[in-house]
Amino acid sequence: MPRYDFRCRACGSTFEVSRPMSEASAPATCPAGHDDTVKLLSTVAVTGRGTGSAPSPGPSGGGGGGCCGGGCCA
Ligand SMILES: [Zn+2]
Repeated sequence: MPRYDFRCRACGSTFEVSRPMSEASAPATCPAGHDDTVKLLSTVAVTGRGTGSAPSPGPSGGGGGGCCGGGCCA
């Protein structure tokens, strides 16, 4: 039976819960009795945090681009 790591957001402790995969996403209760817990994904927790803010394109270009826009090519 797989084990899942949980972290309690109330007291900050981490704990493991053994449960069938069908109940993997079911809420867990901290050993101290708190139910404000989050499930930790161990494979993600190690590599973690690769995704961040997308690069912003900045001000939209194209307003004054190209010499043909000014009529110099005509
Ligand atoms: Zn707790």
